[in-house]
Amino acid sequence: RKNCSDLNVCIRQKLQIPRGERYEVCRSVHAEANAIISAPRDKMLGSQLYLVGIDMATKDYVQSANSCSMCKRMIINAGIERVYIRDTKDEYRVIEVQDWIDQDESLEGVFGY
Ligand SMILES: [Zn+2]
Ligand SMILES: [Zn+2]
Repeated sequence: RKNCSDLNVCIRQKLQIPRGERYEVCRSVHAEANAIISAPRDKMLGSQLYLVGIDMATKDYVQSANSCSMCKRMIINAGIERVYIRDTKDEYRVIEVQDWIDQDESLEGVFGY
């Protein structure tokens, strides 16, 4: 099925939903979820995930890109150990997934990023 980036339209944008919120209304399967469902469990455990966010409108790297709350919980339960997020052509942030477990924003009602 085509993603919003293929259709050039996203219902979240139409509804002006803030970044990081209410992804359940969007038809797209996130890159993290696609990666997780494409690999067997033993390849997930202790693995690294590389993430690049590209803004559909400007084609620039998404600033402070991060996984959404749905993807974070899947990454945690998939057993992925580390997430690399591209900030610029040459710079990446490294996230230890254990930090998402230790600093559980879902318990504090933090949405978005
Ligand atoms: Zn969408
Ligand atoms: Zn996501």
